[in-house]
Amino acid sequence: MSHLHQQLRPVDPLLTEDDHSILATVDQLAQRHFPPAEVRRRDREHQPPYDLLPAIGEAGLFALAVPEALGGIGPDWPRIALVQQRLGYHGYMAASIFNRVVGFGLMSVLTNGSEAQKAALVPGLMSGSFFIALALTEPGAGSDATAVTTRARPTDRGYAIVGRKTWISDARGARYLLTVARTGPESTGSAGVTLFLVPTTAAGLSMTPLPKVGNNAMPSFDIGFDEVEVGADAVVGSVGNGFAHLMATLHYSRASMAATVTGAAQAALDGVVAHARERRQFGRSLASFQVIAHRLVDLQTRIDGSRLLVGRLATLIGAGLNCRTEAMQAKIVATELLRDVADQGMQIMASAGYSSDSDIQRFWRDSRLYTFGEGANEVLRDALARDFGWARKDK
Ligand SMILES: Cc1cc2nc3c(=O)[nH]c(=O)nc-3n(C[C@H](O)[C@H](O)[C@H](O)COP(=O)(O)OP(=O)(O)OC[C@H]3O[C@@H](n4cnc5c(N)ncnc54)[C@H](O)[C@@H]3O)c2cc1C
Repeated sequence: MSHLHQQLRPVDPLLTEDDHSILATVDQLAQRHFPPAEVRRRDREHQPPYDLLPAIGEAGLFALAVPEALGGIGPDWPRIALVQQRLGYHGYMAASIFNRVVGFGLMSVLTNGSEAQKAALVPGLMSGSFFIALALTEPGAGSDATAVTTRARPTDRGYAIVGRKTWISDARGARYLLTVARTGPESTGSAGVTLFLVPTTAAGLSMTPLPKVGNNAMPSFDIGFDEVEVGADAVVGSVGNGFAHLMATLHYSRASMAATVTGAAQAALDGVVAHARERRQFGRSLASFQVIAHRLVDLQTRIDGSRLLVGRLATLIGAGLNCRTEAMQAKIVATELLRDVADQGMQIMASAGYSSDSDIQRFWRDSRLYTFGEGANEVLRDALARDFGWARKDK
C-alpha cells in the first residue's frame, strides 16, 4: 500500500491522524476480507459481497453517515468520501455495496423517512445486517425516469403495486426495494409519484437475473410486480412527492459513485504503471517511452483532479450546502476518468491486459456502466448547462 499513501500526500496534505486511522481500518478490512485474489474470485464466480456487510458495520464505517442522536458518529461526509475512495481502490464491489447501504439505505431513510422508519431501519443498516436496493428504471423509463408507469393502487390496507422494473442491482440480496410508483391516478411526468419500501419477500414479486458484460459481483434483475400488497407505512416521505424526495438524495449517490470510481481509477492505473515499468521491449521499459510516460502522467493528473472534485463535493455536503451542480461534475469527471484509465491501460498492457486473468479487463468491463448509470453523462451535461445558465431551464 505504500504507493497509495504516497499518492494521497500531494492531494490531501491536510489528512489528520484520525483520517489516517480510518483509512488504516479500511486497509485492514480489505486485507482480511477482500484482498486482490478474492476480488478476482468473486468477479469470476459472480459472487456478491453481501457477506462483507457485517464486518464493514462492525468497523464503524456505516456509522459515519448516521447522526449521534441515532447511534452514529456522523454525518461526516469528508470521511465517508475518504472511505469510499479507499474501498474503491481495494475492490469496487465492496465499495458498491457500501454505497448502497449509505445512499439508498441510510441517506434515503434519514432524509425522507418517518421517525418510525428511522427507528426500525437505521440500526440494522448501520450494523450491516441488510441493505436496500433502488427500483426506479423500467423498460420504457431509463434516462427519462419521469416516464415510469408502475402503479400503486390504494387498498383497504395500503397499496397494491403493479408494473415492471428492470436492471435493478442487488435486488435479490436486498431486504427492501425502494420502489418508485405512480399513485396519482392520471398523473404523468414527475407529479403523482411515491416512494415505497417493498420487502423483497412480498407475494407477487418475481425476479429474473439479467446477463451482462461486467460488474459480475453486482447481479441485476428484471422485476415483475403483480398486485404486490404493502401497508400504508411502506410509503417513504409524502404521497405524490416521490421525485422531489429522490432528488433530495441523488447527490449522495453521485458523490458516492464519484469517490468510489476515483479510488478504482487509482488502483487500475497503479497496475498499469507497475506493468509499464516492468515490461521491457526494444531493450527498455515501456514506461521509458515518452508517449507512454505522458499518457500515464496525464491519467495520474486527472485522478488527482478528480480527488479534488470529490473532496470539494464532500465538503459542500458536510456543510449542508446545495451541491447538485458539483455532484454532477464530480460524477462525470470520475466516471470518464476510470473509463479512460481502463481503455488506455488495455492499450499499454496489450496482450497482458486482454487476458481474462488481468485486473485491467475487469475495470474495462465494469467502467463501461458508470458513464450512463446514476444519470447518463449526456443528460447530466444538459442539466449542468441549465445550472450554469447557458441553456433554457424548461425542458
Ligand atoms: C448494470 C446496471 C445496473 C443498474 N442498476 C440500477 C438500479 O439498481 N436501479 C435502477 O433503478 N436502475 C438501474 N440501472 C438502470 C440505469 O440507471 C439506466 O441504464 C440508465 O438510467 C440509462 O437508461 P437506459 O439504459 O434505458 O438508456 P436510455 O435512456 O435509453 O439512453 C440511451 C443513451 O441515450 C442517451 N440519452 C438519453 N437521453 C438523452 C438526452 N436527453 N440527450 C442526450 N442523450 C440522451 C443516454 O445518455 C444514453 O447514452 C442499471 C443499469 C445497468 C446496466
